[in-house]
Amino acid sequence: MAAGVTRLIAVGVNLDRSSNAVSLGHAYEEVWAGVGHHPLEISEPDLATLSQMAKDEMVVVVGEIGLDFEHVGGPHRDLQIQRLNEMFSLATEHDLPVSIHNRGAAEELLTAISAHHGIRGVMHYFAMDWDWAQRFLEVGFYLSFAGLITRPSRDALREVVKRCPADRILLETDSPYGNSQKRMGVPNRPAYLVDTAELVADLRGITVEQLADQERANAITLFQKMR
Ligand SMILES: [Zn+2]
Repeated sequence: MAAGVTRLIAVGVNLDRSSNAVSLGHAYEEVWAGVGHHPLEISEPDLATLSQMAKDEMVVVVGEIGLDFEHVGGPHRDLQIQRLNEMFSLATEHDLPVSIHNRGAAEELLTAISAHHGIRGVMHYFAMDWDWAQRFLEVGFYLSFAGLITRPSRDALREVVKRCPADRILLETDSPYGNSQKRMGVPNRPAYLVDTAELVADLRGITVEQLADQERANAITLFQKMR
């Protein structure tokens, strides 16, 4: 991996994509997998099959799961919350962390996390301010930053990048989405993580190499099976 990205997680949002992620995990040494049911996914979650998949040695996380209350026409909030709790149970059953998608549902997510003893994980594509960041940090979650931090309008998010404890930061692409400012309009890819890493390192006054070392340690701490 020429850009220096040596480990990555492909995540699933439904049964097919979860299965694909597991296959990628087996095909490529650098890839691990997430299995899960995304809140905007309209198909029914097949919990028995997902649970079977979650046993796979390459699966390191239940995700992408979460709540999305901003998407027009998405599943009803109550149904999303029910599925979120099913995914939390799946994670607990297999002793896996979760990767959480949040749009307009921070309060409900904090309630669900607090109610589900022992759940651990990461807020994927974190996009909120420091007050919210602190609340997710307080319940033990990691914050994952993407290319969004490079957008000119995102000063509040850059403040979170500066203040987040070093041992709770993760980086992601959310590819093919979430590209950095300088690559707007181009499909995102894992190699472009470098854009995000450069800005995070700069904001925190460390080198990209120091950041990379910390990230590797954080990823292995959270996604325990990822070695
Ligand atoms: Zn998402």
